Amino acid sequence: MIINPPSAESLNEVALRLYFSAWSSLIGIIHDFELHFDVPGSADDDEDTWAEERKEYLEACQPELQSICTIVQQSNELALKARICEVSPYLLLLKSEPKFSTNGSDIEFSDLRTLDAVDLPGAVNTLSARPLSDEFVQTYNLFRSLRNKVAHLGSANAVFTPEDLLKKMLFQYQQLWPERMWLKEWVQAESNTRLSYFHDYSNSSPYADVFAQWPLALKFIGKSDFKRLFGVAKFQRRYLCLSCFRLGTTDWNDLRSDPVHTAFLVKGADRTCCFMCGEEVAVERSLCRQDHCKGNVICTDPEGENDGICLICGEDASGLAD
Ligand SMILES: [Zn+2]
Ligand SMILES: [Zn+2]
Repeated sequence: MIINPPSAESLNEVALRLYFSAWSSLIGIIHDFELHFDVPGSADDDEDTWAEERKEYLEACQPELQSICTIVQQSNELALKARICEVSPYLLLLKSEPKFSTNGSDIEFSDLRTLDAVDLPGAVNTLSARPLSDEFVQTYNLFRSLRNKVAHLGSANAVFTPEDLLKKMLFQYQQLWPERMWLKEWVQAESNTRLSYFHDYSNSSPYADVFAQWPLALKFIGKSDFKRLFGVAKFQRRYLCLSCFRLGTTDWNDLRSDPVHTAFLVKGADRTCCFMCGEEVAVERSLCRQDHCKGNVICTDPEGENDGICLICGEDASGLAD
C-alpha cells in the first residue's frame, strides 16, 4: 500500500515557511540599500534621490531575486497541493500512472510522482471547493516565468523590483490563506528558521525578529492590502498588545523606546483586539499621565498585572514609577 501520504496542514506549514523566508529576504534586500544610502522615502516616491544607485543595486540583486522567485514558486506549488490534499492526497497522483506490483510491499508517497506545477491551478479549480481567481493564476504563472527570466531584466528597463515582488506576495497570501492571520503566521515561520535556535525569549524571540522588520514591511503594505490583511484601515489608531509587546521585548531588541502597536479598538466595545495574536483585552478611556504620552486607552485588568497600563506607551498610566 501507499504509506505516509501528506496532510494539507503539513504542506501548508512548509509553504508558509518558504513564503516568509522569501518575504524576509526581500525586506533584507531593501533594508541593506537603505542602511547604506540613508533613504528617507522609497522607490515609489516621485523624487528618488538615489535612483541611479538603486538601479545599479537592482542589477546586483538579480541572482538573489531569481532565487527568491524560485522559493515563492515552491511555496505556491505546495499551497496549491495543500488545497488538493484537503479533498484527498491521492488526487495529487493523478496523471502519474503508477506501476502496479503483485509483491505487496509498501510504497512511500514521497517516492511517487505528483502533479506537475503547470497543472496545479487547473487541478485546484477542478477538484477543490475553493477555486483560485484568474488574477492569482496570473501571478502564479508570473513567478514561474520570472524565475527563469530575472537574470536578463536588470540591465535596461527592469520590469519589477523587490518592492513589486513584496506587493505581489501580499496579494498571493490573501488568495492562498485568507483564513490565517498574516502576522501570526510570520511569527510562526520565524520560529522555524535557523535563528530559532537562539530564541530564548531573553535575548531574542520570533516576535522580536518580526518587530525588527515590521517598520520596513509596513512601508510596502498599502492601504487596501492592510485593510484586507488585518481587517482595519491603515490610518486607524493602533495600540499595544501587551502580550505580543512583552514577547517581542528582549535584551537585544528593547521595544520600550519605540513600541510596535498591533491592536486596534473594536468598534462599539470597550476592548482592543490584536491583529498579531488575536487576543482581546478590556480597556477604559482615561488620560495617561506619563510625560510626553498622549495615550487615552488604558488596560483594565483588575485581577492581573496589566491593570492601568497605557496601551500607547506601555507604562503605568497613573504616572507613578514602578
Ligand atoms: Zn498580540
Ligand atoms: Zn502612556
